[in-house]
Amino acid sequence: MSPRGDSAGDERLAVYYTVDTEVWWARGSHDGRSGFADEFRRWFHGATPRGDYGVPFQMRLLSEHGLKGVFFVEPLFAAVVGSDPLEEMVECILEAGHDVQLHAHVEWLRHIDHPVAVPGTGPHIRSFGLADQKRLLGEATRLLTEAGAPHPTAFRAGNFGADDTTLAALAQLDIGVDSSLDRCYLDDDCRISGGAAIRQPRTIGETLEVPVSAFVDYPGHLRPVHLNACGFGEVRHALQEADRLNHPTFVMVSHSFELLNVRQDRPDRVVLGRFEKLCRFLADHEDRFRTADFREPVPGTESSSPDVDEIVGQWRHTTARVAGQAWSRVAYR
Ligand SMILES: [Zn+2]
Repeated sequence: MSPRGDSAGDERLAVYYTVDTEVWWARGSHDGRSGFADEFRRWFHGATPRGDYGVPFQMRLLSEHGLKGVFFVEPLFAAVVGSDPLEEMVECILEAGHDVQLHAHVEWLRHIDHPVAVPGTGPHIRSFGLADQKRLLGEATRLLTEAGAPHPTAFRAGNFGADDTTLAALAQLDIGVDSSLDRCYLDDDCRISGGAAIRQPRTIGETLEVPVSAFVDYPGHLRPVHLNACGFGEVRHALQEADRLNHPTFVMVSHSFELLNVRQDRPDRVVLGRFEKLCRFLADHEDRFRTADFREPVPGTESSSPDVDEIVGQWRHTTARVAGQAWSRVAYR
């Protein structure tokens, strides 16, 4: 049996289109110009004077193409601003039929009156010991489920800032999957031990690690498959290679605000174009690719699964991305 077959015998490559869904706001940081409601509209709804390109828009496009997404929702902000916006996020995603899972940015601790853990010095949950990580993840889970989400089965740390202790804390909270391993951030933000060798789902302790996909874009350099970091040609090639090399999973990363140029308050036409092309490509090739989520078992987790080869990109796709980015800086000023 191939390593990728799921419990129903589906041998197509399982593509996880994951969207880290988060809002940002610091009380008093906007000189009174912008309250939380405006920031919520920006970071979640993707509101710009030229239309909305946030989570509802992204879900609509996914659904129109018969695709599903995994939305890693950050709930700690609700301890600062109240639960209504979090409830709106959860309801919106569940109603559209997509998957709500857990994300956490410990940066919010600084703004909470009585946090469950003393704020650390950095933006990573791995800065905390096991007891505090468990308390933090437990609190984030409580906020998310009280806002209407089912108990999460998967987690991604803010800034990919997880370590082995995070995985142990997740196991104690009955959250079986972690997707914080991004090999391009190892030894910096991400400190999951042995991570450099993990290219496919692997059990670490009692937690299943499902790593973010990456490819070699030039010798000795890995590029993560983030929507804002790769051209469509690079993503398409990586998908085709993952399929050819029999990878069991392909994990992409995006954000609730990914299709926006936040600083210029407008949609980012380059990233928007990539997303539209990706949706069309996956829909047109549903015989080879299926979008998956963490409500179902992750394929390729049998211990006997052989390791998989690294995906190697093609120069022409990388060159095309660099040229396209340079052009967009001129054309879309
Ligand atoms: Zn995040």
